[in-house]
Amino acid sequence: MSSISNRTGIVFVISGPSGTGKSSICHRVLEVDPLLHFSVSCTTRQPRKNEIDGKDYFFMSKKLFQEHISNDHFLEYAEVHGNFYGTLDSEIDRITNNGEDILLDIDIRGVKNIQKKYKSLSKPINCHYIFVGPPSFSELEDRLRSRGTESEDVIVQRMNTAKTELTHWRNFDSIIVNSNLDDSINNLKMIIQAQRLSRNVLLTDPWEIN
Ligand code: 5GP
Repeated sequence: MSSISNRTGIVFVISGPSGTGKSSICHRVLEVDPLLHFSVSCTTRQPRKNEIDGKDYFFMSKKLFQEHISNDHFLEYAEVHGNFYGTLDSEIDRITNNGEDILLDIDIRGVKNIQKKYKSLSKPINCHYIFVGPPSFSELEDRLRSRGTESEDVIVQRMNTAKTELTHWRNFDSIIVNSNLDDSINNLKMIIQAQRLSRNVLLTDPWEIN
């Protein structure tokens, strides 16, 4: 990898239907990569057991979330399963300004919002979009059912959402089909490594000739 002072940070945007295991893949890669940082999103949903404010999410009221919208503080935001989620511009700046990379785990509409907004950003960001999908549609249904936590109605609703979300894979740069967790972790590491070797991340000539 080029030296930190000579490069721009890369924003790795990961998305895919719920139940595909993208969060597990992300967490395992974040644990072993010191130059990759998790983008802490804002959410209006209640914290789950073991979740820490400021680490897993910035948990906040709908009123505060609305204020961030009004003040144009979000790179993107979306309503997911009845709650609001959003990525703060300040979170991206904090990390990429140091030449380090950031990982966003967001829903498909959030990705579309970034892709729409991207061209009009005053300071362009270097994004790489990664789609995580299940080995098959029936496997996704089995995974959702085996959790045993959702009612039949919710499962049907999630499967319908997943079917629509799976049609968006062409809008991404890289695809991970999560048939095996260890293989998917390795694939994500390789995707990240390949992007770090891209010319696009260099700010100046590495040989200082021109
Ligand atoms: P959970 O509530 O299970 O943590 O997340 C629910 C969904 O919200 C996941 O698909 C996750 O990727 C998505 N999500 C988390 N943070 C953000 C965000 O900042 N923006 C958007 N658009 N989606 C998010």
